Amino acid sequence: MNYREELKNKKRIVVKIGSSSLTHKETGFLNLEKLEKLVRVLTNLCGMGKEVILVSSGAIAVGRKKLGLSGKELTLAEKQACAAVGQAQLMMTYQKLFSEYNQSVAQILMTKITMMWEENKTNATNTFHELLKLGVIPIVNENDTISTYEIQFGDNDRLSAIVTSLTDADLLILMSDIDGLYTDDPNINKDAQFVDIVEELDDKYLAMGKSTSGSSVGTGGMSAKLTAAKIATYSGADMVIANAEDVNIINDIIQGKNVGTLFVANKNEKFDLIEEIK
Ligand code: GLU
Repeated sequence: MNYREELKNKKRIVVKIGSSSLTHKETGFLNLEKLEKLVRVLTNLCGMGKEVILVSSGAIAVGRKKLGLSGKELTLAEKQACAAVGQAQLMMTYQKLFSEYNQSVAQILMTKITMMWEENKTNATNTFHELLKLGVIPIVNENDTISTYEIQFGDNDRLSAIVTSLTDADLLILMSDIDGLYTDDPNINKDAQFVDIVEELDDKYLAMGKSTSGSSVGTGGMSAKLTAAKIATYSGADMVIANAEDVNIINDIIQGKNVGTLFVANKNEKFDLIEEIK
């Protein structure tokens, strides 16, 4: 089976992009050029008849910049205030850019509670399905202003995998500041090998993430990405980690080109999503 070729047939695609990929490293301002390209690529996917969900970080980063709180350690309340300001600003920017292509978007903010309470979960699922049916691109983030340490998802890698599972999407693309999975931290170990495909996410791979988490392999941490891979693939979706440097890489993935690391779907009926995120 040519797994890369299969990616051409994906219908419902979740794309996650992180704060560091959306902002200029030197100043912390939004990278509007990259955002514009991303918006174009995603709208074009819709034009190809695909359904698209965007999981976007950046609320805290944008709010922090706007409120002049750069370069200092933030308290939880400050972070939540930044997120409240930043999320609105972020959505305004997305709305403006998407409207240039006449593409409707929606905002969905989630917390762990969304998943834990059956009724909440059902309503969230129904909303996603309705929006997709209407041709809208839902833009998802964690509801940082009301999440606390106890109820937060932790990171948007995991959140995007949860959204993939919740919406029965068939592909998750994690846009990151790394090319994909390496057998070790390539900055430390020059013998580290790039892994282009993971057909079965076994303990060997999960252990790889543990040993590299928190290292320069990725700011999101490879461990978080491997947890996301577990949630996505066990729920029946493929997942690709790709470098967000050039967002056109999303097109390469959809055309079946050999870019990033592909984790092949491996639906596991015994997998309990709620247990995993508790
Ligand atoms: N929800 C956070 C934000 O939008 C980001 C979390 C993450 O980067 O994983 O600022």
